Amino acid sequence: MRSRFNIHLDLKKLILCLAVSVTVITFLNGFYSSYQVQKQQLQQQTFRNHKAYAEKLVSATERFLLAAQQQLAFSAKILATQFTNENTLNQETQRLLLQTDSFNSTVVVDKQGVVLDISPSSLKLKGQSLDSDGAQQALDNKKPMISEPYISAAGNLIIFISHPVFNSKGEYLGYIGGSLYLKQTGILHDLLQVHYHQDGSYLYVVDKNRRLLYHPNVTRIGEQVFNNPVIEAVLRGESGAQQVKNSQNIMMLAGFAPLKIAPWGIVTQRSFSATYAPLDGLMMNVLYRTLPIGLATFVFIWVVARLISKPLRQLAETAHTLDKPSTSQQLKQVQSWYFESAELRKAMLKGVGLLHNQIGLLKHEAQTDPLTGLHNRRSLELMIDKLTLHHTPFSVLAIDIDFFKRVNDEFGHDFGDIVLQSLATIIVDVTREHDFVARTGGEEFIVILPNINVKSAYMLAERLRMRVSETTIQPVGCINISIGISGWPLQQLSVEEVLKHADQALYEAKKTGRNRSIIDAKYQDAEFLTLQ
Ligand code: GH3
Ligand code: MG
Ligand code: MG
Repeated sequence: MRSRFNIHLDLKKLILCLAVSVTVITFLNGFYSSYQVQKQQLQQQTFRNHKAYAEKLVSATERFLLAAQQQLAFSAKILATQFTNENTLNQETQRLLLQTDSFNSTVVVDKQGVVLDISPSSLKLKGQSLDSDGAQQALDNKKPMISEPYISAAGNLIIFISHPVFNSKGEYLGYIGGSLYLKQTGILHDLLQVHYHQDGSYLYVVDKNRRLLYHPNVTRIGEQVFNNPVIEAVLRGESGAQQVKNSQNIMMLAGFAPLKIAPWGIVTQRSFSATYAPLDGLMMNVLYRTLPIGLATFVFIWVVARLISKPLRQLAETAHTLDKPSTSQQLKQVQSWYFESAELRKAMLKGVGLLHNQIGLLKHEAQTDPLTGLHNRRSLELMIDKLTLHHTPFSVLAIDIDFFKRVNDEFGHDFGDIVLQSLATIIVDVTREHDFVARTGGEEFIVILPNINVKSAYMLAERLRMRVSETTIQPVGCINISIGISGWPLQQLSVEEVLKHADQALYEAKKTGRNRSIIDAKYQDAEFLTLQ
């Protein structure tokens, strides 16, 4: 029985849905996992690179500062004996400035803080007393030192590297120093800018006051940066790598390392978006490469789903018409290539066979007279319908046993039945194979003779009548029959009227003495007498 609900889902769709969703989930999961793994790898690699990079820059910067200090120390040694020689002072400041390119300006200051010589001389500070932080620190400490950044007398943001000058007796004479202009190009800029990456990486240098000593954005040099965890870490003397939000609120992957010879830290960093940009291309590549296989998988699933569902669908469709004679043939054509469908088909074939046998049996019983095995009235009607449908002419014999009541009265009903069965046998025997014999009432029979005209039918009826009258049926003996004859088509008469005419002829035969055959009066002159 079909479901009350209109079910649109079928096995093919279900298999497709299941397989496609499993494939898509697996694909997405793989895609997502590979994205995460790649991202993590990229991040770790960037961390490693930036940490190593910061450390490398630290050592390069330290080497530079050490070299600068050594140059100053060398000059201080020369000046120890030549401190009053103006020429020597001037030669040394110029040599330091021009020969090494380490400093933006160089200066020799006496122990009172007065400038003895300065290069370039355009700064015009010779003879003046320096009172800047760096100058004061140098005088106070009397040691080699690197100052904190400060605004120089000439108005530049500078770092001052100095070395004390002592004479051979160990008396402090003053110092020689070189300044680095933080906001202008110089060796520090060159050193750091050489490493400036084109891939979105940049670096900056901070001192212990969180002041930027170097930044690719020159306007930010000198600016103090607070609350930056990376700066805090590097100033604690740590080196490492971590995520951090920069001053523009952009997430960065940063590597950092502190200097040892100055309280500075170097931070190199790269934005998330620049770091992960190659990932997008990579994933698109993965997608393009996976797509053909994905499509092929989908087609494969579709074909397999079709193959699996096809026999079951065919079986399901056949199930609607199990009672049709063509069902067995349809079932045999179903290609049940796997166990369940094959078993189902086998079971259905068996069921259909049983059903058709049952139907055949019922049909036979419904159309058969149980006593004689002849056709019954219902079967007769079907036969007549068939003949008229095909316009097959036929003759009708209406047969009735004479005085049958007496047989019953004399020999009993059971023997009456035997007489009926014997008569049935005789009729079948006398008629042809494709003539149609039916028992339509108690002891009344109708014979349909296709393609036989009433004249021939009459002769056959007579033969039959004679045969019956000559046959002895034990223990009853001989019986007689009367026969009325008509035929179809005749004029515009319906089949019912034709049968009625056969009955009328039979009545006539009874009336005129029984044991005889009579053609209905209507047919005496009819053209029907000739076979059509
Ligand atoms: P008639 O020559 O006028 O036909 O006389 P009849 O005695 O044959 O009269 P009618 O045809 O009217 O009688 C039919 C009888 O057939 C009545 C009934 O007892 C008997 N009969 C009907 N059906 C059966 C049956 O199935 N078996 C037997 N044994 N007798 C039947
Ligand atoms: Mg009768
Ligand atoms: Mg009778």
